[in-house]
Amino acid sequence: MSENAIELQSVEKHYRGFTALGGVDLTIERGEMLALLGHNGAGKTTLMKILLGLTRVSAGRVRVLEQPPATSGAVALRAHIGFLPENVVFAGGMTGREILHMFARLKGQPRASADSLLERVGLAGAADGPVRTYSKGMRQRLGLAQALIGSPRLLLLDEPTTGLDPTLRQAFYAILADMQHEGTTILISSHVLTELETRTDRIAIMNRGKLAACNTLDGLYREAGLPVRVRVEV
Ligand code: ATP
Repeated sequence: MSENAIELQSVEKHYRGFTALGGVDLTIERGEMLALLGHNGAGKTTLMKILLGLTRVSAGRVRVLEQPPATSGAVALRAHIGFLPENVVFAGGMTGREILHMFARLKGQPRASADSLLERVGLAGAADGPVRTYSKGMRQRLGLAQALIGSPRLLLLDEPTTGLDPTLRQAFYAILADMQHEGTTILISSHVLTELETRTDRIAIMNRGKLAACNTLDGLYREAGLPVRVRVEV
């Protein structure tokens, strides 16, 4: 079995002449947590859509959990991938529990697994209230619970902590640390380095569809020729 959960070689994605990804090489090991950092439009979401098999590459080679993502096996592959899109929206009239039961059913998982995930993300007490009454942090935790249904081997999280205050971010990352401890590979995108620098194994920096750097935090400092690093917990 390969040690790598994700392998991208010279991946390009063009939209009618516009280059969203201009030749990306990236490998993510099994059990690694990798931060994908970049400004708006850098190509982070496009990369995740490729990994999910939602859009095809224009050129290059992709392997996700040892398979090409956009094949007839894509549905089976997606069963092993949890995805939390940016700004996820749920039907406000449904309760958190109803929503999670629905996703569990779609993924062929028992309701009980959804109930235990509600506890895991700290929503058990609010699970029977309508989602329209949830705070932003509660909705994000519901989104994470949705992504965790079926115990995926790979988690793709697209800017999951946007709009969360520091306390909620801490709680969110504590759950991710537990998932990683259990062996899940995690790819998490963000605009903010300080949020991820001490929580992830490596940081990939994207700029205009290219990977500008990919290294540990210490490695990035070395590459930049900076001797001193100040740790900031956000
Ligand atoms: P954000 O932080 O704003 O989500 P991002 O890093 O996720 O940005 P992408 O959404 O991957 O960036 O977009 C990369 C570039 O590709 C952007 O310039 C975007 O406008 C363009 N793009 C994305 N999807 C399409 C599409 N379907 N058709 C045309 N252009 C697209």
